[in-house]
Amino acid sequence: MTASTQVQEKLSRLGIATELDLILHLPIRYEDETHLFPIADAPPGQTVQVEGVIIHTEVVFRPRRQLVCQVEDNSGVVVMRFLNFYGSQIKTYAVGKRVRLLGEIRSGFFGAEMVHPKCRIVRAGESLADTMTPVYPTTAGLTQTILSKLIAQALRNAQHMLTETIPDGIIRKYRLMSLPDSIQCLHNPPPEVSIEALQTRTHPAWRRVKFDELLAQQLSMRLHYRQRRSRSAPALAQKNTLQQQFLAQLNFTLTAAQIRVCAEINRDLASAYPMQRLLQGDVGSGKTIVAALAALQAIENGYQAAIMAPTEILAEQHFQKLTSWFEPLGIKVAWLSGSQKKKQKQAVLEDIASGAAHLAAGTHALFQEQVVFHQLGLAIIDEQHRFGVQQRLALRMKGTQSDQVPHQLMMSATPIPRTLSMSYFADLDVSVIDELPPGRSPVVTKLIAGNRRDEVIARIRHACEQGKQVYWVCPLIEESETLQLQTAMETFENLHAVFPDLTVGLVHGRLPAQEKAAVMTAFKQGEIQLLVATTVIEVGVDVPNASLMVIENAERMGLSQLHQLRGRVGRGSEASICILMFQQPLSEIARKRLRIIFEHTDGFEIARQDLNLRGPGEFLGARQSGVPMLRFADLEQDGELITAAQATAEEMLNRYPELVQRHIERWLGDKTEYLRV
Ligand code: ADP
Ligand code: MG
Repeated sequence: MTASTQVQEKLSRLGIATELDLILHLPIRYEDETHLFPIADAPPGQTVQVEGVIIHTEVVFRPRRQLVCQVEDNSGVVVMRFLNFYGSQIKTYAVGKRVRLLGEIRSGFFGAEMVHPKCRIVRAGESLADTMTPVYPTTAGLTQTILSKLIAQALRNAQHMLTETIPDGIIRKYRLMSLPDSIQCLHNPPPEVSIEALQTRTHPAWRRVKFDELLAQQLSMRLHYRQRRSRSAPALAQKNTLQQQFLAQLNFTLTAAQIRVCAEINRDLASAYPMQRLLQGDVGSGKTIVAALAALQAIENGYQAAIMAPTEILAEQHFQKLTSWFEPLGIKVAWLSGSQKKKQKQAVLEDIASGAAHLAAGTHALFQEQVVFHQLGLAIIDEQHRFGVQQRLALRMKGTQSDQVPHQLMMSATPIPRTLSMSYFADLDVSVIDELPPGRSPVVTKLIAGNRRDEVIARIRHACEQGKQVYWVCPLIEESETLQLQTAMETFENLHAVFPDLTVGLVHGRLPAQEKAAVMTAFKQGEIQLLVATTVIEVGVDVPNASLMVIENAERMGLSQLHQLRGRVGRGSEASICILMFQQPLSEIARKRLRIIFEHTDGFEIARQDLNLRGPGEFLGARQSGVPMLRFADLEQDGELITAAQATAEEMLNRYPELVQRHIERWLGDKTEYLRV
């Protein structure tokens, strides 16, 4: 059977172009047609196969037109019920016909029944299937029958394509099943195989496939890592003078975790290979200062550093903070944004080009064409998930001179669960700040239904009377920016009317950059007591005196967004409160999210639960288009295999380079596009 053009087009929608792709297109679940249950003994709540003779067939009209047949075997009777059916089925399922039914038996009004079972006519004594029936992921217009036939044919033709790519020693070490056996077993599982082990993907055959897939991902990402690493970078020796001076002028000391990650970064910077490190830490763990120390190491070696942030508010805040830290040390910080006036921008560009500016802070304006660095030694990227591979690359290219590329430090505001950073971020070295600065009192989270607004208003008044500051986060309206803006304005006017004696400010994404900055400065200086904001304040904003936050329609927001927003309070020593207002009725997923955010304050734990709830996509952001995605392995279930794949990848890259390419080709094919950048 060769696939028609039409079928080929459908296959390509499933990512299938070759026979090998067909072979590696594995079932999503299985049906067990190798056993027959007596009707009376069939266990409820699971898919079973029964066989019997039709003793009654009827079309009933209550409450809806439906076809109802009674099927009898030696042990009892089951009713099968079809809510949608063709006229021809009435004849097919005539009294006296013998049928085999596959489905779940439930006890209904008329006794045991199966709704829409898979049903076929059989002869008495017809043999049972000798393997489990695989069910494949498919697409509209491509039936299981056609797909199964194509796969079976590919399996006959192309077994030889499954020659081993993993060295014997590793296969023995991890007790891996052979690949051809695994693939054969997954497509045609013998009857003695536990269907449970197949469905939950814990069977050794699945284990082998997952291992191979994880290994391919590790290999391609580590290869990418090595390629970038093979270039040279300025060796920025640790001189400590600027860093010491800087630390001496701070009114706090670094946490042990900050000291540890600084050492990791310092070591990387001092070597002549480009650093590619991801700095992770929960909201408020103090990543900015770590970035600042890294910048100082570049600067004291006569190089420039750049720090790029995804929003103007955050970039501006970095600029202000770094200026206040660095100016006393005689270091010049430049500020570059898309909204600057031409003349102003020109001056900044000149400072960056001449080297007069030691550090440049800005948005993605930093990697625009006109920007030329004198000598960029370190590129720092805050909120890395907001930037794509291309954008990060662009900033790095900026600093590339002759054959030297700058070091790169990426920071992530959203903690990334360990299994995720070990897999999808395997092309980076990772540093984790796993403790918060001392003296923080944890934020208390309260869930309040939207109709108890008065209570919330009273709390705000109380907080402001005590000299505290408050954020009011407006509902997120993803569908329409105009509507979002309108809601923010209305909320602002409304709250302004409710609190005539308070200074109320408003900040939203459409505000011109200068006004935005002015509002944020006023809030920071305590001139604004209640700040009405859209989610533009989500990332990075740091105003320690703000200790109450109200989030409206919290049920619309994702977990990491809620965690980020909540992280805006609890930054000082004041006990802080975050009120999540929600609108009934809650969807199942919204209820789960609110429960998680209510019960947990640890960002890593929240992230782990979020990963279970939604899969890795949300964490990867723009990265998603660049890294090889996993089809079979599961980050929660397969942590042990990820560790094994990681170790194996290093060993294979070092000792079996000839197998590496073949392995990657097999599992990723042309999906390794990004390796070329
Ligand atoms: P994030 O990791 O979320 O970017 P920031 O770098 O904004 O966190 O730091 C949060 C706050 O904690 C800032 O006000 C910062 O000055 C302060 N901070 C950072 N490190 C320490 C420390 N070791 N001790 C006390 N305060 C610290
Ligand atoms: Mg930050």
